[in-house]
Amino acid sequence: MKDICKDCGKCCIETEMLLSSKDIARIKKNNPKHLKIANFVRKTEEGFNQLKNVKGYCVFFDRAAKMCTIYDERPQGCRFYPLIYDSDKKLCVLDHECPRPKLFYPNKKYHVKTCKKIVRFLEKQVLFTKL
Ligand code: SF4
Ligand code: SF4
Repeated sequence: MKDICKDCGKCCIETEMLLSSKDIARIKKNNPKHLKIANFVRKTEEGFNQLKNVKGYCVFFDRAAKMCTIYDERPQGCRFYPLIYDSDKKLCVLDHECPRPKLFYPNKKYHVKTCKKIVRFLEKQVLFTKL
């Protein structure tokens, strides 16, 4: 994880991160053959793909080192984080769970630009509907 994330990993606890098929293919390709899709993907009740947790942590989180073990090929949603799409409010918000949001999104311009990417990503690669 980035230095900003040092000694944190809060977003990797009980993660509900959605995965696109590209995320799944990238992670599968860059990991040992024995890593099966079923090892890191679970289906939500709505039928979306989500990162799996093991004992309350994302399956890719190293608890001892407090770091992501697939940082270079981590899911797109983890790259956007802590900016997330609030489907009730229909806008992007900084997740209050992250203690350092301003270090990732220091200004409104970057926030707005990334939000457009998130909406496009969700519409085209995850949800396939207009948000
Ligand atoms: S919660 Fe924020 S600071 Fe902590 S690991 Fe996640 S992105 Fe980094
Ligand atoms: S893939 Fe990495 S950054 Fe994303 S939730 Fe899992 S451990 Fe955290």
